[in-house]
Amino acid sequence: MFDVIIIGAGISGAATAYELAKAGHKVAVIDRYGPAAMASGWTLAGVRQSGRDPAELPLARAAVDIWGDLHQILDRPTHYRRGGNLRLGRSEEELAALRAIVDEQSAKGLPITMLEGLEAVRAVAPAVAPHITGASLCTTDGHADPHATVSAFIAAAERLGATMRFGEEVLAIETEDGRVTGVRTTRARIPAGQVVLAAGIFGNDLLNPLGLEVPLKVRLVTVIRSRPVAPMLEQVIGVANAECAGRQEVSGRFRFTSGIEHWHGHMEDGERPRVRPTARDIVETIQLFGALIPATLEAEVEDIWGGLIDQTPDALPVIQRAGNPEGLIIAMGFSGHGFCLGPITGRICAALVEGRDSGFDLAPFMIERFARRNDSAASLTLHG
Ligand SMILES: Cc1cc2nc3c(=O)[nH]c(=O)nc-3n(C[C@H](O)[C@H](O)[C@H](O)COP(=O)(O)OP(=O)(O)OC[C@H]3O[C@@H](n4cnc5c(N)ncnc54)[C@H](O)[C@@H]3O)c2cc1C
Repeated sequence: MFDVIIIGAGISGAATAYELAKAGHKVAVIDRYGPAAMASGWTLAGVRQSGRDPAELPLARAAVDIWGDLHQILDRPTHYRRGGNLRLGRSEEELAALRAIVDEQSAKGLPITMLEGLEAVRAVAPAVAPHITGASLCTTDGHADPHATVSAFIAAAERLGATMRFGEEVLAIETEDGRVTGVRTTRARIPAGQVVLAAGIFGNDLLNPLGLEVPLKVRLVTVIRSRPVAPMLEQVIGVANAECAGRQEVSGRFRFTSGIEHWHGHMEDGERPRVRPTARDIVETIQLFGALIPATLEAEVEDIWGGLIDQTPDALPVIQRAGNPEGLIIAMGFSGHGFCLGPITGRICAALVEGRDSGFDLAPFMIERFARRNDSAASLTLHG
């Protein structure tokens, strides 16, 4: 019998497992594939506070505070670099949008400034294209290696006694008299006092039989990764309309993405799931990012994949105790923002399991908010 079963070994589940194991709970993590097999591996892995919804900003800032020491806490590399986030402007209209972000977010205390003119932008990022006329720069944003980070959380949780069950799918969350009693998987029935659902785009498959649903649209993002080239870019690059983003990994590889695209609905199952973008998506992504950082057009392509996003109507996640059934904690719907939040999501979920105050206002992340909403989908921002 486990105290807590965590469904999903993405960054949300892995960080939660670490926090709970550290607090002495008997924990199991179950994943249909393995660590970082879905969004947490497909991701651009920007660690960004700038451009966040005001409700999410306190979480992002708290997460960034943790990211700085995370490799020491977990005793494994995360390849986190606090090189900044540069949102590039290509027209007067975009520059006006960026100035508005800078005004709003510097008033909230973020170290974000406006760089006016190409020269100012090239002074911090010489690789940008000559038609860039300005940029916002948030100096405390950055990026990390997603596989290394999730593996580091998993390894640390294991050292603290957590059990890992990979290649096993949870088929149902079991309940009795309104309380969670465990899970049924492709291999076994596993009893547990509480369950944390961190299953990304598949979360609703397990919530629906309990009469719960997080309204989600699954969206596609095309990702291109190059072979290593000489270091030339420290910041995560975005644009005002979020149509592409990218960064250079510590390994020298460029990893860059499209904005949000339509998903054709096909995912190949295997040891790890794979989604293939269309030729058009690939061409557009290369052209868009290549127009910002021309050197990427000369780099050899190493891999191309599609990443799926669990997008809620307001592009904010659900992080809460369900109430009914008792003993269920939900953490999903991160809408393309959840990698940065991972370390704080873990702490919040651990507090919810223990019935403690997380120290954050979680009202904006309650599932009940959707019943009150009547507006169309919020635009999704992917700026790394
Ligand atoms: C292309 C792309 C770019 C992104 N860029 C950024 C970025 O720059 N910055 C940022 O902060 N965020 C970014 N995101 C978003 C971020 O990566 C995700 O929000 C985050 O990784 C979600 O983590 P998760 O653990 O909640 O979900 P996931 O990583 O999707 O993990 C869910 C896990 O649950 C498992 N699972 C599902 N169903 C079951 C079941 N029934 N039984 C057992 N296991 C199950 C899956 O196998 C999976 O491993 C991006 C996402 C994508 C796709």
